[in-house]
Amino acid sequence: EAKAAGRRSWRVYNPALQSRSERVHALHRALSQAVQRGELSLHYQPQVRLTDGAPLGVEALLRWHHPRLGVVPPAEFIGVAEDSGLIIPLGDWVLEQALRQWVQWHDQGVPCARVAVNVSVAQFRQGDFPHRVQAALRRTGAPAHALELELTESVLAHDAEAALATTEALRALGVPLAIDDFGTGYSSLAYLRRFAVQRLKIDRSFVADVGRDGDAEAIVDLIAALAQRLGLQTVAEGVENPTQGALLLARGCQLAQGYAYARPMPPDECASWLRTAGR
Ligand code: C2E
Ligand code: MG
Ligand code: MG
Ligand code: MG
Repeated sequence: EAKAAGRRSWRVYNPALQSRSERVHALHRALSQAVQRGELSLHYQPQVRLTDGAPLGVEALLRWHHPRLGVVPPAEFIGVAEDSGLIIPLGDWVLEQALRQWVQWHDQGVPCARVAVNVSVAQFRQGDFPHRVQAALRRTGAPAHALELELTESVLAHDAEAALATTEALRALGVPLAIDDFGTGYSSLAYLRRFAVQRLKIDRSFVADVGRDGDAEAIVDLIAALAQRLGLQTVAEGVENPTQGALLLARGCQLAQGYAYARPMPPDECASWLRTAGR
């Protein structure tokens, strides 16, 4: 009785919970059709060299514009895509689209050395992931060095042996790897020795506190020193003003990405930005 009443009261009095699960369900249904319906697009955010602001590459960031739900942020739909397995076809679409964009820019003389693509755990764990990457490179005609794959620490922490084989296969293809959100994950530094990674992206949470908080600065110093010793480049994520940029440069970071330089932009806008900044 009490249980039944409890359940009933949950239904009646917890519309927030109910609508949340309904929303996840609706998102999943809509997301599964988003590719065919042409609702997905990529925005591109430049990465710059801190010494002189020269653009070096871009990160591709997925955008979903649903006709009724409006713009759904990645923070909401990437999780849904990961939980449902939809991230596999979505990830393939992102990879191919980003490489096509790079080839187009290359043909048009837009200065962009590479395009970075985010990779989810489920994508990376597919046994044939390196083959999918190779196939996308072949289909689009992009060279391996035009691509960078952004992995999170959790991708490498889980099932290290399989991850090692996958990173080795990607290395053999010549595709550079970066660790995204570095310093926030399940941090075993051992994998930095074992995996063929080229860049560390210092998480925005540390970057935001540089100039304000000695602990965040100590962490940035440590990451920059570690990267230098291991021969890796560092990219500061989420740099929002020039002061932060100057402080990060002084602390040994090489590259930056953030609103201080450019926001993620649709392809045409990004191309103009790259042309102007790359002159
Ligand atoms: P991320 O890979 O760490 O991407 C950086 C995020 O920081 C982006 O959010 C970007 O818009 C935001 N950002 C850049 N500069 C600044 C800044 O100066 N200040 C602040 N506050 N934020 C800044 P976005 O586009 O909303 O993407 C969020 C996350 O969604 C990404 O984090 C990534 O984990 C995931 N994501 C986006 N696109 C894809 C995709 O194609 N595949 C996968 N698997 N994940 C994706
Ligand atoms: Mg990223
Ligand atoms: Mg990040
Ligand atoms: Mg992230």
